[in-house]
Amino acid sequence: MTQTSTAGALFLLPEIESAIRSAILPAERILCVSHVSPDGDAIGSLLGMGWILGHLNKQPTLALADKPSADFAYIPGFDQIVGASAVADTYDLIICLDASSADRMGSVYRPALHGQTLLLVIDHHITNTNFGTLNWVAPGCAAVCQMLVYLADALGAPIEGGLAVALLTGLITDTLGLRTSNTDAHVLQAAMRLTEGGATIHEIVARTIQSRSFAGMRLWGAILSEAKLQERVIWATISQAQRKRAGAEEKEGEGLSGFLVSAKEADISATFTERFNSAGERVVECSFRAKPGFDVSQVALSLGGGGHPPAAGCTLAGPLEDVAAQVSNALKDARRSQLAARQAMAANAAHQNAAHQNAAHG
Ligand code: 5GP
Ligand code: MN
Repeated sequence: MTQTSTAGALFLLPEIESAIRSAILPAERILCVSHVSPDGDAIGSLLGMGWILGHLNKQPTLALADKPSADFAYIPGFDQIVGASAVADTYDLIICLDASSADRMGSVYRPALHGQTLLLVIDHHITNTNFGTLNWVAPGCAAVCQMLVYLADALGAPIEGGLAVALLTGLITDTLGLRTSNTDAHVLQAAMRLTEGGATIHEIVARTIQSRSFAGMRLWGAILSEAKLQERVIWATISQAQRKRAGAEEKEGEGLSGFLVSAKEADISATFTERFNSAGERVVECSFRAKPGFDVSQVALSLGGGGHPPAAGCTLAGPLEDVAAQVSNALKDARRSQLAARQAMAANAAHQNAAHQNAAHG
């Protein structure tokens, strides 16, 4: 049984659909790109877009500034992903997936060469800066891969085979296995379509969110013993020295902020990871998570990053300990003001309720 999704009409409005169609159909040379430090939704949506365009007899270049983890090599088409050095100077169309701002494309996108090219942005971050010529931004979708289910339907690409595996990967990883607060009926309907198309939830879960290396676990052990908790904000720093001692590679030990926020005593979590960027400079990658009712996207945005209310991040220059001290203070401030705003709203509602009752009995 296959059926098209009714949510497509909700998230892919007719005018956007027709603008996307007009951008894609005449384009011959197409570059698809997703964000630096690519996660499951970045890789899944990039490969998914490749499959959708392939159905239209297009042969896009699929590029990522950072090498994707080999953990995702099970997705058909994975070997076609190229690095920035294989990206040409001219294209008819550039499609940017899962990136909230232009800098997130990293070295793949060179403004001097690509700045005049039609840029189609497909994203679900509430903090998206609408940096494309044409922007399809749907914060109501849990993953860009969910949006591509609707686009595949609109463009008549059958949701099966490699396309189903690619799109279910992003949907599973961005929702932590269909468990985040934005996992609504539309997400489950999209997951059902992808499962009907032959992709398997438990296999993708086992290859992504349920798969860790021993070195990554040892790194977590070292870091967790030094985690800090103040004012229901929990945070930890991950230095290059700790990574070396645990024998953990660059990407091992990711996802710790998602674990930290599960502490009963915390509403907001952060990890601060020391890394070297492509220019060889020492930077600190900040990753934030919030329990439902709290929002870390605005703090991330104010620090030059972005994300979603429950999961956001930014990258800052500076010594690890200084960044951790400053940003954890900013998170404590944000939590305090969000709490105060909520309490003020509750007090206002209680006041109005009392006024209503008085009027009714008066
Ligand atoms: P994570 O903590 O898993 O790395 O990222 C959580 C969310 O924040 C993702 O949606 C990701 O796109 C966003 N994010 C993380 N780091 C950055 C950053 O440096 N800049 C921007 N714009 N967004 C980020
Ligand atoms: Mn995403």
